[in-house]
Amino acid sequence: MTTGAPLRTDLAPPGHPLERLPEEWAEVFASWGEPAFRGKQAFLWIHRDGVLDPAKMTNLPARVRERMTEELGGAPAEISHLHASADRTRKMLIKFGDGREVESVLIPQLRDVDPDGDEDELEVKPGRVAGARVTQCISSQVGCAMGCVFCASGVAGLKRHLSGAEIIAQVLLGRAALDEHEALRNVVFMGMGEPLHNYGAVARALVLLTHPEGIALSKRRVTVSTSGLVPEIDRLAKDFGGQVRLAISLHSVNNERRSEIMPINRKYPLPVLMDALRRYPLPKRARITIEYTLIRGVNDSVAEAKDLVKLLARIPAKVNLIPMNPITGSPLGAPEWESVERFQATVHGLGLACTVRTQRGDDISAACGQLALHGEKRKVKMRLPTTRDEN
Ligand code: SAH
Ligand code: SF4
Repeated sequence: MTTGAPLRTDLAPPGHPLERLPEEWAEVFASWGEPAFRGKQAFLWIHRDGVLDPAKMTNLPARVRERMTEELGGAPAEISHLHASADRTRKMLIKFGDGREVESVLIPQLRDVDPDGDEDELEVKPGRVAGARVTQCISSQVGCAMGCVFCASGVAGLKRHLSGAEIIAQVLLGRAALDEHEALRNVVFMGMGEPLHNYGAVARALVLLTHPEGIALSKRRVTVSTSGLVPEIDRLAKDFGGQVRLAISLHSVNNERRSEIMPINRKYPLPVLMDALRRYPLPKRARITIEYTLIRGVNDSVAEAKDLVKLLARIPAKVNLIPMNPITGSPLGAPEWESVERFQATVHGLGLACTVRTQRGDDISAACGQLALHGEKRKVKMRLPTTRDEN
């Protein structure tokens, strides 16, 4: 798979060998007195072929392999648990050197192509089965500092950022865990953490994920999902020229309500966020994904569905509804299925593309963005909104 020219942007120097681009390997090799072309060889082994053991990099001289072995040390991450569900969704617990864990999920796209080619967003219906193209959902932090009240990561709080190497390691491990007939097609930053709060590491991961000599994902198949960090949305736009896909966790069209459930809204209120979306330099025909977690009695009214369409009127967008997955200690939950359908029908009826993210991997509670933090259960302090729009 080729993806054209590599993404180019100013990145902080690599902190770990796994983060090096071919030219950065070449610099290191030059300092070892080795020719520059070996840089590309090392990069191909690691990122295209997934070989992390220098002893197996057969076209490199023994002296280089030995030095690389010393430098690389052990694997930066391992799969500590892999659990497959009946629909072939696989949840992985990925453990890093310090014992911290994040979750990452492999989700085979459903076989059946919708008019937009957004195979990954098809709803589960009879006759649709897991196909060979796989979407991987990855984490950017252990926990999250944003404090969204409906989210397990937010309730746990931020434990630490992941490095670029730890983000890439999730994808290398996930790709290696695929069945023979499967291929990694999309990567979404919809696991634990707020990717734009860890901008440097995520930017490096974006360049590595889409590098044509490495994992070689198509740029439009890498999606950064954010709760709305406006300066970093602008930075992403500037650094990557809008080539990377953007998903926004909106979850309410009411500014006060949004602040109640997503504290980041106090810093970057809805009108400010909407301006940033209007500025985002989308390629032709591309759309911003608007994620909308439906929470019973909070944001699920028909009135709010109508307001959502109004709010998005001048933004190329598609809506993805996510019935809220319950989290420990919280009174919040998903609406009745009829309300979900009514919300979707309202948005769709007003001409805006709207899908429902069905609970794939349900039997292992592995739906993206709904990853439980193990052993970090805390009581959620959430005041239920006092007002409610009438349906
Ligand atoms: N921090 C980023 C990406 C991770 S979460 C963000 O917020 O966009 C991926 C998606 O799952 C987000 O839209 C998030 O709001 C949503 N989500 C989090 N917890 C959820 C829950 N309990 N039920 C349903 N969706 C949830
Ligand atoms: Fe963080 Fe996203 Fe969860 Fe909010 S929804 S707490 S931003 S991971």
